[in-house]
Amino acid sequence: MGNLEEVARRKSAEPRSKKQGRARYIPRRKHCSLCIGNVEVIDYKDPVKLRHYISDRGKIEPRRKSGACAKHQRALALAIKRARHLALLPYVPAHIYKTGSVGIRD
Ligand SMILES: [Zn+2]
Repeated sequence: MGNLEEVARRKSAEPRSKKQGRARYIPRRKHCSLCIGNVEVIDYKDPVKLRHYISDRGKIEPRRKSGACAKHQRALALAIKRARHLALLPYVPAHIYKTGSVGIRD
């Protein structure tokens, strides 16, 4: 019976992942907006800019959403945490509801 042998040969030659695990989603590498703008230092006293990098629930946006490179994502996270400490940015959604919007204070 050469049939069984044939199946075994085909299986070993073609990994399962290649045959059915085709990625339909082709990731486009977003360019880091901070690299483009030649930003060296991210100002933690500028909540208007930092606002773009937090979610509507006050969380720091992940790299896959913000598109920032590793270096700038680290700097961003630090700046956002500092801004939170100074009450320029919210820690929790309750802070957003209290102030009305994020990053705008009078
Ligand atoms: Zn960058």
